Amino acid sequence: MSVFDKMKLVQGDITKEDVDAIVNAANNSLLGGGGVDGAIHRAAGPDLVAECRTLGGCETGDAKLTRGYGLKAGHVIHTVGPVYKTGKSGEPEKLAGCYRRSLEIAIANGIKSLAFPAISCGVYGYPIQEASRIALRTVADTCKAHPEIDEVRFVLFGDKDLAAYQEAFEELKQSG
Ligand code: ADP
Repeated sequence: MSVFDKMKLVQGDITKEDVDAIVNAANNSLLGGGGVDGAIHRAAGPDLVAECRTLGGCETGDAKLTRGYGLKAGHVIHTVGPVYKTGKSGEPEKLAGCYRRSLEIAIANGIKSLAFPAISCGVYGYPIQEASRIALRTVADTCKAHPEIDEVRFVLFGDKDLAAYQEAFEELKQSG
């Protein structure tokens, strides 16, 4: 099975995903925020922020694991994307770190299916074309090295974001 067969692009609300873990685009405090972070905390309920309070925050480009509480997903992997400035201040490496660290934490905890949002592509301002290439390439490379991951879903909220991901995915498949 090609690694690309394990990667699915879908449009929707990530809080509804029935996977082992959904990934949250959190901030450094891990104490909740707007956008997808707020939606995940609302759907999971107050036990989620209570567990997050015990974690001591998270560095940009890193990730931390909690349970999923009221979500269908058993776990949440909270990762902190970079705020996009010039694109030359280490943003690509930090964004790749979010995807790689989330998958490493999944593997270390027996999590086999995950759903990612478009990390940093909302309030943090990362251009979707660039971000989608980094997301897809990093996930493909990490999954090649770790065949124990069964499925990675990219859950895009808007149709423009989905179209950008579809284009980047075709490019990636062409280049092998
Ligand atoms: P960041 O601060 O990392 O930019 P945001 O939450 O502002 O995070 O946005 C990240 C992406 O998540 C954006 O593309 C936004 O449209 C999307 N998003 C917002 N709510 C949801 C949701 N419920 N499910 C999936 N994606 C969502």
